[in-house]
Amino acid sequence: MKDEACIFCKIAGGEIPSATLYEDEDFRVILDLGPASKGHALILPKEHYADLCALDDKIASKALGLAARIGAAMKKSLDCDGFNLVQNNGRAAGQTVFHFHIHVIPRYEGGPDIVSWTPGNASGEELAQLAETIKTAL
Ligand code: 5GP
Ligand code: ZN
Repeated sequence: MKDEACIFCKIAGGEIPSATLYEDEDFRVILDLGPASKGHALILPKEHYADLCALDDKIASKALGLAARIGAAMKKSLDCDGFNLVQNNGRAAGQTVFHFHIHVIPRYEGGPDIVSWTPGNASGEELAQLAETIKTAL
């Protein structure tokens, strides 16, 4: 299903032009307009899914394989040294476009730190309790 009001539906469907580096029946892969690094790409399913939790299982499994393929192609063609996959779910997590997408971000040795956090501290007991809490909802 498409969402008439969704810009990524329009881009994925070819209604709005984009710098496309890959396309098949299920996906379009484009370059991000506001790249975090040279070659930053977005994997867009052609159908509308708001986020990872809404995603169809078949599309979900294809998406990860496609991300590996895009990352490997970046290493060959752009001479990057690695890549990050970033996938935001929900406004609090930084999602700004509510059509599922995976960021594939090339990383260059000595380049800026793009994806990092300050590690916190947690006791074994806290972790065990948290694991039990999350398990109840699975
Ligand atoms: P999010 O924050 O939702 O995970 O990521 C949305 C991404 O989409 C951002 O990195 C933003 O730069 C990119 N973006 C938003 N609108 C457009 C657009 O019209 N074209 C392209 N190519 N990228 C877009
Ligand atoms: Zn959409």
